[in-house]
Amino acid sequence: MVNEYEIKKQICDIGKRIYNRNMVAANDGNISVKLNDHEFLCTPTGVSKGFMTPDYICKVDENGNVIQANKGFRPSSEIKMHMRVYKLRPDVGSVVHAHPVYATSFAIAGIPLTQPIMPEAVIALGCVPIAEYGTPSTNEIPDRLEKYLPYYDAVLLESHGALTWSTDLLAAYLKMESVEFYAQLLYQSKMLGGPKEFDQATVQKLYEIRRQMGLPGKHPANLCLNKDRMNCHNCSGGCSAEKAPGMPAGTSSVHGTTDMHVDNRAQSPEVIAEITRRVLEQLGK
Ligand SMILES: [Zn+2]
Repeated sequence: MVNEYEIKKQICDIGKRIYNRNMVAANDGNISVKLNDHEFLCTPTGVSKGFMTPDYICKVDENGNVIQANKGFRPSSEIKMHMRVYKLRPDVGSVVHAHPVYATSFAIAGIPLTQPIMPEAVIALGCVPIAEYGTPSTNEIPDRLEKYLPYYDAVLLESHGALTWSTDLLAAYLKMESVEFYAQLLYQSKMLGGPKEFDQATVQKLYEIRRQMGLPGKHPANLCLNKDRMNCHNCSGGCSAEKAPGMPAGTSSVHGTTDMHVDNRAQSPEVIAEITRRVLEQLGK
């Protein structure tokens, strides 16, 4: 395992990237990394994440209580939000919160990122719903986040910003980049008269690529999620009217596919390249 000091340095590096890419202003944003079930590293409150050194980084337990913090530093005021993600998603190793301009604009306008407009966003993100507004630093944000946690790896926080999580720090950060890039594309294509959305057949072909790649995390391609008509371009909210989750494997509907239904044989680069080629061919690209 990478030693703790190295992880602190990585948190500082990612903090710089978030700051330099205008994903936060001033002292905003926060980052955490899980060391084990009872120890987590997190950024401190009240400092710019673009100017941190490893001695800034605090250590907390699973309840957000301080285990270690250097003089003058206290854990992020949003640590409860991070801890709720770890509690409900044991597969998660890192959580990133930022206020990227485009994604946050959608969060403020109350528009979820659910339109299937480009292959990478459909494959990597699936869709990004909006967790209802909560007062920062209270339990309101964690509570409102909860229902999205089993089904997504990124959410917008209503009138606030974005939250992403993944297996490790780099992956969680890259997910934030993807969310912002997708939001920017969506915004700009709306300016050009509105994006041309993929139809369901196209979306399902992209989901098939994701399944073949065996990517970690939760995604509509791996799991039926839309029982209560939450935002999702998997089924445009119509899933609840269709088949229940857990249909036998091999059925044609993506809704029946479970996490276990990943064909490990098909994960070689050659096979993925071939699938990608065929899908692009069918898309007429
Ligand atoms: Zn925030």
